[in-house]
Amino acid sequence: MRAEVVVVGGGITGVSAAYFLAREGARSIIVYEKNYIGSGSTFKCAGGIRASFTSQEHIVLMKRSIELWGELARELGVKYLRSGYLWLASRERDLERLKSYSAIHNSFGVPTRVVGPDFLSKVAPYVDSSRLAGALFDPLAGKACPFDATQKLYSVSRRMGVDYRFEEVTGLLAEGGSVRGVRTRTGDVHAEHVVVAAGVWSKPLLEKAGVDLPLAPEPHHAVITEEFGRLFDPLIIDVETGAYAVQTFEGHVLMGVEVPEEHLWEPTPRLDFLEKVVRVWSRWLPWLPRANLIRYWVGHYEVTPDHHPVLGPVSGVEGLYVATGFSGHGFMMGPVVGEELASWVLKGHSRTREARNLTVDRFREGRLIKELAVIG
Ligand SMILES: Cc1cc2nc3c(=O)[nH]c(=O)nc-3n(C[C@H](O)[C@H](O)[C@H](O)COP(=O)(O)OP(=O)(O)OC[C@H]3O[C@@H](n4cnc5c(N)ncnc54)[C@H](O)[C@@H]3O)c2cc1C
Repeated sequence: MRAEVVVVGGGITGVSAAYFLAREGARSIIVYEKNYIGSGSTFKCAGGIRASFTSQEHIVLMKRSIELWGELARELGVKYLRSGYLWLASRERDLERLKSYSAIHNSFGVPTRVVGPDFLSKVAPYVDSSRLAGALFDPLAGKACPFDATQKLYSVSRRMGVDYRFEEVTGLLAEGGSVRGVRTRTGDVHAEHVVVAAGVWSKPLLEKAGVDLPLAPEPHHAVITEEFGRLFDPLIIDVETGAYAVQTFEGHVLMGVEVPEEHLWEPTPRLDFLEKVVRVWSRWLPWLPRANLIRYWVGHYEVTPDHHPVLGPVSGVEGLYVATGFSGHGFMMGPVVGEELASWVLKGHSRTREARNLTVDRFREGRLIKELAVIG
């Protein structure tokens, strides 16, 4: 069998890459997914989308991704809302930190601003403002439904001719410094280009081709409540702990907070996560102890040493590309990463300098990038 491009992984990154490759005119694309579409981190995520980061790479790429989320909503009907992010500070020192972030955002045209209790009562009527020192509002941010977005990109790209195969890629075929295709249990598939978008599992797969990816599988936990009517529009963040809460399109409140974790390939449930998340959010959502928690799960962040993704061509193996290492931001980056990969594969270069700065070479060359605003 033969294809112009093989994509390994059917999460948001893989389906978005397939969609943009098809849109930009790739002749034949096969996507391999070892389980089911979205079964990695994608269906475990909160769906938050923002450009209010502090690195140029994150901000520039995410501003473009937000434009593309808008297009996907208009053209494919993806469930996406620009409902904002609200960073809640109860301590003056956290508010000062938010002000310094806001100056960075504004210098890149991301219109964040500091707001007080009056604003909070309008956009988040069921959030208690009595402890509020101030908040940072990001009106450009928002949320999309991970299930809806991934399924729509999957079905539209299939209609555009992308061939999805539910089978594991067991190895990469490379010879004389070039990729030749992939190996599966049912045979080899030859391809000019191979895009590895296999989430945390990109690391063991690339290792087989002699490529060392500094990527760690970091467990992250999330829980949802029963459904409510409108409680708050923006995704809210408790700046002191980095905890987040978002009301899903169906009305559930989805919450996460970091608990100390080892790097684990098979994450395990943690009761102390549930205790911590309810403790943190009860301070802002006093009604929470009376709400029913209906589901809890744990998934992975694919984490790199500088919390930025690894994108683009792998030097030394022509035709091989990687897209992972999103460190908790891979869902929101899906569209822009798909667009950048299509440009790399079909035109031989990235669309932006910022994407080019994110190749795996930066670790070897010691060009790590700093990001201050990591949450979750
Ligand atoms: C609790 C939680 C909350 C999060 N919240 C957010 C958020 O609000 N916003 C945000 O942007 N991000 C968030 N994230 C991060 C986000 O979920 C991930 O960064 C993103 O989903 C990564 O997508 P992906 O397609 O790169 O990887 P994955 O979704 O992991 O997809 C990789 C796919 O590759 C397949 N695969 C692996 N190896 C092979 C192989 N050898 N052959 C074939 N198939 C293979 C897997 O089965 C999997 O389906 C969150 C993550 C968690 C855990």
